Amino acid sequence: MTNTIHLHGRHYRLPSLPTVVICIDGCDPEYIAQGIADGVCPTIARFAENGFSAIADCVMPSFTNPNNVSIVTGAPPEVHGIAGNYFLDRKTGDEIMMTDARLLIGETLLGLMSQAGVPTAAITAKDKLRKVLGHNMKGICFSTEKVASCTVEEHGISQVEALVGRPAPDMYSGDLSLYVLDAGLALLREQRAQLLYLSLSDYIQHKFAPGAPESNAFLSALDQRLQAFVDAGAIVACVADHGMSDKTGADGKPNIVFLQDILEQHFGAGSARVICPITDPFVRHHGALGSFVRVYAANAQHIPEMLQLIQGLAGVEQVLTGSEAAKAMQLPADREADLVVIAQESYVLGSTHTEHDLSTIGDRPLRSHGGYSEQPIPFLLSHSLTDEYLQRTASTRLRNFDIFDFALNGVTAQLATKEELSLLIPA
Ligand SMILES: [Zn+2]
Repeated sequence: MTNTIHLHGRHYRLPSLPTVVICIDGCDPEYIAQGIADGVCPTIARFAENGFSAIADCVMPSFTNPNNVSIVTGAPPEVHGIAGNYFLDRKTGDEIMMTDARLLIGETLLGLMSQAGVPTAAITAKDKLRKVLGHNMKGICFSTEKVASCTVEEHGISQVEALVGRPAPDMYSGDLSLYVLDAGLALLREQRAQLLYLSLSDYIQHKFAPGAPESNAFLSALDQRLQAFVDAGAIVACVADHGMSDKTGADGKPNIVFLQDILEQHFGAGSARVICPITDPFVRHHGALGSFVRVYAANAQHIPEMLQLIQGLAGVEQVLTGSEAAKAMQLPADREADLVVIAQESYVLGSTHTEHDLSTIGDRPLRSHGGYSEQPIPFLLSHSLTDEYLQRTASTRLRNFDIFDFALNGVTAQLATKEELSLLIPA
């Protein structure tokens, strides 16, 4: 059998040790910094000491799906094609939720590793990611949101609740994420997976700021599981899909720019469609409000004037034409909108006020993501890096989608000989 995988210009060694890559959804580096200061995440503190810890950047827009797909492909959206959770198909005018791999270009590392004979598992909190992460995968792939209905035929596994030892978690809870980790740990201990990708939910981060008792309790529970993975003999690597910021003004009310309302006031009803690519079936905690939107003009002649108008709005950090945005943010140019708008750190952008159900946010201050301000994310490894990879972190911008490369190629402990490798993974 082959002992490297080639994907999008990178070579990946097959794991010689069990390797667990975790995407801690919405884990702004502030949570980790505060957690270490508060003493609630000793394992992560040890990673920083004995392994590797840095701040890296996620891809823009700083949303869940583009970043999860970037992580499992080792490439930015211009390569794999996924630039949002929610799209407008320009040809048909249809608005599409990304729930499968139809828009994915090329393979994922998980798919290729599983096809090369590596026992591979992908577990997500939210079911919306399952199909794209499981694209062409021969291993185990399921979400904890739909854990009770797993079948061997579709998910490569059944009776997950018996495996984990407790019933399926509430969809709106921190346990949805902890359950992902516990299921991964069970698969690792039973030697049913050698390479695991575990993608959590940002339910806690949308609700609670760094240092809040709820945030620290979640981080502590996460940290204990990271140690359990290390104790089970795994190399553990953690990144986030995006950070998280407060999106409220001094009065505690959310800072929202309803962009389609504003454009329609100036250019007439139906003159523009604003798409919020944060939209997903799981919006109870953020009202589908993020800091990045796409604008589609009904009349192309309005675009320069719209750009000018948007540029002058309070709360807007940047507005670019679609082709400028594609170039600047490595997005697929042929799928880009007429205009791309990015909000300042404390603002979110909406479509029309009637399209966003603000009651869904509840009584807590709005926290969300999508902009440049939520690009910094933690990049953690349990084990030390080779000199080559350590040097690379000093000379190039580290991205969350470098994590599999680092975990498989850059960790000293991983570099087993070919012979050792063939013993671990039968051909
Ligand atoms: Zn996310």
